[in-house]
Amino acid sequence: MSASTLSQNQLQALQQQHPLLWLNSYYEDTESAPLTPDPAELDAAEARLALFAPLLAHIFPELEPSAGIIESPLLSGSALAEELNLKEGQLWFKGDHLLPVAGSIKARGGIHEVLWFAERVAKEHNLLGDSDNNCLQLATDAARHIFADYTITVGSTGNLGLSIGIIGAALGFKTVVHMSADAKEWKKTRLRERGVIVVEHSGDYGAAVEAGRKASTADPKGYFVDDERSTHLFMGYAVAARRLAKQLEANHITVNQQHPLFVYLPAGVGGAPGGIMYGLKSIFGAHVHCFFAEPTAAPCMLTGMATTPAQPVQSVYDAGLDGLTEADGLAVGTASQWVCDATRDLLSGVYTASDKSLFSALLRLKIGANIEVEPSAAISYFGPTWLDSPIGQHYQEAHGLTAYKDNATHICWLTGGSFVPPEEYQAYLNTAQQLSS
Ligand SMILES: *Cc1c(COP(=O)(O)O)cnc(C)c1O
Repeated sequence: MSASTLSQNQLQALQQQHPLLWLNSYYEDTESAPLTPDPAELDAAEARLALFAPLLAHIFPELEPSAGIIESPLLSGSALAEELNLKEGQLWFKGDHLLPVAGSIKARGGIHEVLWFAERVAKEHNLLGDSDNNCLQLATDAARHIFADYTITVGSTGNLGLSIGIIGAALGFKTVVHMSADAKEWKKTRLRERGVIVVEHSGDYGAAVEAGRKASTADPKGYFVDDERSTHLFMGYAVAARRLAKQLEANHITVNQQHPLFVYLPAGVGGAPGGIMYGLKSIFGAHVHCFFAEPTAAPCMLTGMATTPAQPVQSVYDAGLDGLTEADGLAVGTASQWVCDATRDLLSGVYTASDKSLFSALLRLKIGANIEVEPSAAISYFGPTWLDSPIGQHYQEAHGLTAYKDNATHICWLTGGSFVPPEEYQAYLNTAQQLSS
């Protein structure tokens, strides 16, 4: 591969699909990030989700207990620490598999972007004045009548489609989801039941996004949620970091130089983990260390972040891989150029895991902690183990962290699963048991 900092050895390991931990040589090199996201947009996203919380509580009864805020619990991982051989520090799970409304990490970003668009349309039609914050206006028949004229389109491997489709349809927009070949059948069915139009593609995620983008730009009343370059998605995701900071505080968890925080984030195109990383870095700076996790068959953020800055990102196809994985949430061949250009200096590294190991992690989460996730989400389970590997130890030494292992906090981000139908989940467990016997 040209324009890449990967060594021959690393490239060979990638091609042979050997699981690895790659350390990002551009970490803390601000010149590697030619785009600077605007922090004011993060403030705006947080404010928008708060402003529209009463609307969300009104249209989604499951949000009544939280008064319309879509948030997930921080779960103790102490029951699994021993299994993971984590002798020092604390283990936690961020439970985004339990996020209401969308059942995955896509909830915050996707819902934020649709709210942003609904607000814009409502203002254009004088449904909302500039200072008028009666967001319940957006749930009236008058609003639904106006929204029905607009079509929101998105390309997805599944979960972003669920998030956009559910909120889009609930507000009364026409909603079209272009699904890649990886998308699971139950995700399509669930959307169709809500009146969402699902267009199936035989190609990969990038092809589904491209088809959606094309169809949408031809429509004057079309709006395209662009997973590859959307700041509205990115900032919606980033809000999670501020909420997590409050949860850490509530659990008396300190983050500073002597108390490092390690966060392991499953990555597809990069928007969700990139946004969360951006938010965490803006709060904790050098004291938080973010590692992305990807399938050995589709490590697109690894190849993307390893690309020479400001050059077109290298894809997994450039590395000789096919991108085919059971982890549909992570089945992306080419990373977001925008996210790579905006956050290359923030990322500590990326580790990869085989599909087979994802099923075993899924089973261990179930047995050890009664946590039910989809294969994509299970990948974060391996983070602490990689940090303890020789390359992970090297990272800790290089950043002066070795002396503080006892004080470290590790958070494995569980990104999806609570919407998986019981029979599908049982099939995952069966696969895991077969693979382990
Ligand atoms: C989408 C998704 C991710 C990764 O998000 P990207 O924005 O694609 O990087 C991780 N886990 C699950 C379950 C997802 O659906």
